[in-house]
Amino acid sequence: MASGSVAARVDLDGRAIKPLTVCLVGGGGFIGSHLCEKLMWETPHRVIAIDVYSDKIQHLLNPGQPWSNRIEFHKINIKHDSRLEGLIKMADLTVNLAAICTPADYNTRPLDTIYSNFIDALPVVKYCSENNKRLIHFSTCEVYGKTVGSFLPKDHPLRKEPEFYVLKEDASPCIFGPIEKQRWSYACAKQLIERLVYAEGAENGLEFTIVRPFNWIGPRMDFIPGIDGPSEGVPRVLACFSNNLLRGEPLKLVDGGESQRTFVYIKDAIEAVLLMIENPDRANGQIFNVGNPDNEVTVKQLAEMMTEVYSKVSGEPILEVPTIDVSSKEFYGEGYDDSDKRIPDMTIINRQLGWNPKTSLWDLLESTLTYQHTTYSHAVKRAMAKPVAS
Ligand code: NAD
Ligand code: UDP
Repeated sequence: MASGSVAARVDLDGRAIKPLTVCLVGGGGFIGSHLCEKLMWETPHRVIAIDVYSDKIQHLLNPGQPWSNRIEFHKINIKHDSRLEGLIKMADLTVNLAAICTPADYNTRPLDTIYSNFIDALPVVKYCSENNKRLIHFSTCEVYGKTVGSFLPKDHPLRKEPEFYVLKEDASPCIFGPIEKQRWSYACAKQLIERLVYAEGAENGLEFTIVRPFNWIGPRMDFIPGIDGPSEGVPRVLACFSNNLLRGEPLKLVDGGESQRTFVYIKDAIEAVLLMIENPDRANGQIFNVGNPDNEVTVKQLAEMMTEVYSKVSGEPILEVPTIDVSSKEFYGEGYDDSDKRIPDMTIINRQLGWNPKTSLWDLLESTLTYQHTTYSHAVKRAMAKPVAS
């Protein structure tokens, strides 16, 4: 861990960067916690963190640390709290991370999903626009939905052509399934808030940046069911598979695990966000894909790699049957659908910020699963040893 020293910093054009105050809405979540660490440990910037939870940043909030006078936490639900505008006004820029963003909720709690990702984000956009504050708004790669290629027959040669699957911010269409597939409630709400942010820029001069994360993963992502989250809760795939591995049970492959994803290490991705924060001239008005096109796997391959890595870091043997297939209806319920493939085009982020991810999938899984094993294995063993109430 760095000392919290406040070394002078320069932007990509060689200009000195003055210390900034960053309002982090949703700053207590997975991405927020890593961004807070980065800002506290490696920059002189200040953070006003807003969230309903603070557990993931408690280590930064404990008093008496070199950065303690540069971070404050406000336990606020942005749905209904009049303090929000005042805090946005106190900051130089706002980063909005707050959202319901676990797929298990999109089809089972579509109203909460739509409210969280669209309605609740509206005041944040409005306060930034009205007070002439910069906004970095977190959207999602899911706004692309399905690839054009997914509508072609499986063995069609055009499926191999990049324009049928590579996702480009300024060219690719957003393709969602029918309304009864409520999975797309999240993508649709995120798309509409992107359009609203963009329109605030065009009509009212809002200085904005939109971020589309492509499966950022690492320590502190989501929760382990029954340990630091509800026993029946279904987190995102990294935590689902970690939970299975910690419990010594087979990993569940939804509909055979054929969907493809590219995974980027959270620490690489946070470098990109810091570049956006510190280089407004290069980031304003842009929509950025942030992902690692070199780390593509099917979900089945991810399960196999996680099984192998976990055995290496924990010393636990690999199960005879390490994975099982489960239908999406059984796992997520009615209305689930899936993105088939997500390869980010990197042209814009390369050109504007010169950013490239560094960490291979194997390496990021090794450090993440070491964290999961160290943090949770004892608690999981204790929970599993408890007699089940009859
Ligand atoms: P997260 O769930 O860990 O963090 C979101 C945080 O927002 C949580 O701490 C939550 O308590 C807070 N929050 C939600 N509603 C709130 C409210 N009404 N008031 C105050 N706080 C509230 O998720 P994350 O992975 O850190 O994602 C952050 C953002 O990035 C989200 O907008 C998400 O849609 C987007 N995103 C992330 C990924 C990824 O790979 N992690 C992928 C695509 C999009
Ligand atoms: N998935 C799976 N088993 C699980 C959890 C998820 O096969 O235990 C699949 C899910 O159906 C999707 C992929 O893993 O195809 C990634 O899911 P995640 O929840 O991480 O979010 P997404 O990338 O879909 O937004």
